[in-house]
Parts: sequence; structure tokens; C-alpha cells
Amino acid sequence: MTRRLRGAVTDDDHEGFGRPGRRSRPRTKDRPDYSAAAQAIVVTIDRGRYRCLLGELHLTATKARALGRKGVIVGDRVRVVGDLSGEEGSLARIVEVLPRRTVLRRTADDTDPFERPIVANADQLVIVTALADPPPRMGMIDRILVAGYDAGLDPVLCLTKQDLAPADDLIAAYAPLEIPVVAVRPGADLGPLHALLTDRTSVLIGHSGVGKSTLVNALIPGVDRATGEVNEVTGRGRHTSTSAVALELPEHAGWVIDTPGVRSFGLSHVTPQSIVAAFPDLAELTADCSRGCTHETGSAECGLDTAVADGRLAPARLESFRRMEGAWRDRPSSA
Ligand code: ZN
Repeated sequence: MTRRLRGAVTDDDHEGFGRPGRRSRPRTKDRPDYSAAAQAIVVTIDRGRYRCLLGELHLTATKARALGRKGVIVGDRVRVVGDLSGEEGSLARIVEVLPRRTVLRRTADDTDPFERPIVANADQLVIVTALADPPPRMGMIDRILVAGYDAGLDPVLCLTKQDLAPADDLIAAYAPLEIPVVAVRPGADLGPLHALLTDRTSVLIGHSGVGKSTLVNALIPGVDRATGEVNEVTGRGRHTSTSAVALELPEHAGWVIDTPGVRSFGLSHVTPQSIVAAFPDLAELTADCSRGCTHETGSAECGLDTAVADGRLAPARLESFRRMEGAWRDRPSSA
């Protein structure tokens, strides 16, 4: 039960989530009321300290003991007390985590029973993929998409390094899913991407080396995200944090949450129901399915096949949906 957790988030990020059998602390009658305490946003987690933004003020905070094993993750809205001056060496204390609108989760691999929440309160998932160097991995894109659908986030596909390879194939592959796609090259006009990010909180996820940090630096002048893979490999250097980082777009135009490069994306926390639910048009058509239908290719009396046969559903859309379900279903049986 106490296996060492791996992955791109710190232990503190995911402790206490999705663990059956852990004792939870009941609210005690004499617990202080913090409903009037200041509200901040957790922007990153660094060596056990929570960096929070309180208005324009950057705070460093610890987690109150009373929160027990409850995790605090990037994007969390929290109530803070203590030293709220934001001065060098000052320390605030997180006393409450406000209810999350959304939680993007992953598991280390597909046999990992412990889900790790990565980011709270995002509403959009931007999958950043290079068109070459490294080449795109559709299986990986699909898995991240499935996690996004599971979390109820709107997906966006951002294709980088368009100067090295054309984007046509990937654009065609994702068109039936109706996912907005933007392709960029070095020095490209980021207007279309800006438009998609405006007034939203967007998580950026991608394999290392796809140019995600370069993109963030271009979107937020002066933010100086470390580029290259050295830090991700060694875990050392100027940016030692393996946590996600929430960054506000210029002129308060929204937030991007940059995440460390991922090499794999476990989906053991996802249920097939949550995938179907992400496709409302298809969910409706499954009403005609036989009981317990898994909607896989070859399922007997699947309502989705009937819908394609009588022209209510485009074959390409069903194919894409089944690819998504397959990305979840074809989980390897061992780590
Ligand atoms: Zn079915």
C-alpha cells in the first residue's frame, strides 16, 4: 500500500488522494472558522513550500497541520493566514482548500492504483506536440485527451515546429473530434493561440522537447521559463521544481499552467463512462445499445454502429471515439 510514488509531481501533491482506507480527520466542533481568511491561488509547489498569489502579492506558505493528508495542488484556491506581507522570509499558512471546479489527474502507469491530481480549476487542456523532433505520438496525444475528457476540460491541440514537418495529417486525424488545432513555427504569430487562451485557465501538457517552454516564454514575455530538457532529466538547475506552474497571461487575459514534460500518461483512474460522457452526441446514441455494451468495434447491437448505418453519425467520428476508448482500453496489463 505504501509504494513509493513516482511521476512529475511532488509527493505532497498527491498524498491523500484516492487512497482507500486512509483515515480522514473529521471536522471537529472547535475547529476555527477561516471563512473570512484571505483567498489566494497556489501557483507552484517548490520543495514542500506553496507559492501563492494573493492579489498581486507573492506569498510562500506551508500547509496547516489541520489539513492532514489533504493535498494542495497548483491551481487550488486556498485560504491563508499568518504572515501575508509577502516579504522575504515571510511564511503564510494554508488553512483551507476551496472546492475544486475541475481536477486533471494522471497515474504513474496503468497499474498504479493511486491517482495523482496534477492541476485544479483549469477549464482547458492544451496538448503541445511537435510535428517533428521528437515526432508526434498519437497514442500519447490520445491518452492525454482521454484524461482531459475525464476531467471535463476542453481540449486544444497545439502543434509546434511546423517549419520541420507539415501539420495536415494530425489536423485530419483530430478533425472528427472537433478539437481546435493551432500549428506554430518559431517566430510565428501567436494570435490564434492567444485567442484560444483568452479568459481561460489552460493546462499545457506535452512530451519534453516539444518546445512547450519556448511557447510559454513567447506567450508571457519576461516569464523566463527554462527551455531544454536538461533540468527535466537531472532535476537540478535553476528551476528545480517538478511541480506545475501557473502563470498569468499579460493584461490579466487568463492563465496558463505549464506542467513538466511527460513521457507517459497513466489512465488507471479513468472509467469508460467518463469517456462516453465527454461525447454528448454519442452518449445520446448509446441509448439503443444492448445492455452492458462497451461500444468497441464488433460489439453486438451497438447503437453507435446503427447510427452510422442510418446516417445519424459520421463514420469518422465513431472511429475517433473508438480510438479514444482504445487509448484507455489498451492499457498494458503490467507496469
Ligand atoms: Zn454501444
